Amino acid sequence: MTDTLQITDISAPGYERIVRGVDSASGLHALIAVHDTTLGPALGGLRMWPYESEEDALFDVKRLGKGMTYKSAVADTGLGGGKAVIIGDPKTTKSEALYLAMGRLVDSLNGKYITAEDVNTTLADCAIIRRATKYVSGLAREDGGSGNPSPYTAYGVFLGIKAALGHVFGDDSCKGRSVVIQGLGAVGSALARRLADAGATVYGADRNADKIAKLQSEIGLVPLADEEVMTKECDVFAPCALGAILNDDTIPGLHTPIVAGAANNLLLEPRHGQMLREREILYAPDYVINAGGIINVSVEFRDGGYDEDVALSKIERIPVALKQLWTIAKEEGIPTSEAADQLAQRIVADAQGK
Ligand code: NAD
Repeated sequence: MTDTLQITDISAPGYERIVRGVDSASGLHALIAVHDTTLGPALGGLRMWPYESEEDALFDVKRLGKGMTYKSAVADTGLGGGKAVIIGDPKTTKSEALYLAMGRLVDSLNGKYITAEDVNTTLADCAIIRRATKYVSGLAREDGGSGNPSPYTAYGVFLGIKAALGHVFGDDSCKGRSVVIQGLGAVGSALARRLADAGATVYGADRNADKIAKLQSEIGLVPLADEEVMTKECDVFAPCALGAILNDDTIPGLHTPIVAGAANNLLLEPRHGQMLREREILYAPDYVINAGGIINVSVEFRDGGYDEDVALSKIERIPVALKQLWTIAKEEGIPTSEAADQLAQRIVADAQGK
C-alpha cells in the first residue's frame, strides 16, 4: 500500500527545519518545527488546534518551538527545542488514522524531533503515535514512559515560590503566607495541596466549581471569584490557568510582591516584564519555574532510562536557576523575563562554541 502522506519542507530562517505533513487519506495537515538541536533532540508537545490558516499555525509552532529551546536550555535537560501542531478541530477531526499519519511524520525526522502530549493531545493519542514511531515521550508509566508530568511541574513551582519568598522576605517559609492560585487544574490543585501542607493560606479560583469545592473540604482553600483573583492582596500570585494574563489592564491592579505560577506565556508582550519590574513585583519567568514536567520527561532519555529520584533532584535545581536570573536582572537593570531569554541564548551559543 502506498503511503498517502506528503512531506514538504518550509524554509524559515533561524529554524533548523520545518516540515509540513499532508495526508489525503486521514485528513492530517500538520507542521513540525525543529528550532534547535544544539543541546540534544528537539522535544516539544503536539498541539491540535482549529487554526484559521496554515500561516497562523506556522506562527504558533515557530513561537512554541523556540520557547522549548529556551526552556530546556535553562532547565539543563540535555534536549533541544521543537513543537508540532495539527491543524483541525479536536472535537471532529481526531481519528486513529490521523495519529498514525502524524506518527509517520514524526518518524520521518529520524529522532531530530521527539513528540509528547500537549493541548488537545492526550496520552491515548500519543500511544497511537507510538505505533508509528519510537520518538514519543511522556507515555504512561505502564507503557514505559515517565507518566503524568503535572505533579512534577507543581513541585517545581512550589520550590520556586519558596525561593521567591526567600528573595523578597528573607525567609522561604510558607507558614503564615498567603498565596492566590488562578486555576485549580492538574498543576494548580497539586500546588495548592503542597502550599497548604507547608502552612500557607491558599486562595483560589477556577471556572469549575467542583474543583474549588474539593479543595475547600480537603485543605480549607478560600474561594475567590474569577474577577477578584488578580487584585486580591496576597504574598504570592500563582497563575496556573491561562497565558497572556499579565498585561496593561491587569498589572496595575496586582496587589502582590511576587508572581510565580505554572501557566505558559504569562506576559502578553515582552514589555510587560518591564512593567512588572517598574512596579517592583518579583516575576519568576514562566518557562523556568514551570520546567518540572519537561525535566521529568527528559530523564527518560538518560542511560538506564527513567528514574524518579534523578528527576526530583534535577527539579530541585529550579530555585538555583531562578535565583541566578533574579541576580542577573538586578545587576543589569533588566526584567527577569529578559534575563531568562539572555541566559538561554548564551547557553545555546556557548554549546555551539560561538
Ligand atoms: P488544566 O487544564 O488541568 O487546569 C487548568 C485549570 O484552569 C482548569 O481547572 C480550568 O477550569 C481553569 N481555568 C481556566 N480558565 C480560568 C480562569 N479564567 N480563571 C480561573 N480558572 C480557570 O491544566 P494544567 O495541566 O494544570 O496546566 C495549567 C497551566 O500550566 C497551563 O497554562 C499549562 O500550559 C501550564 N503548564 C502545565 C504543565 C503540566 O505539567 N501540566 C507544565 C508546564 C506548564
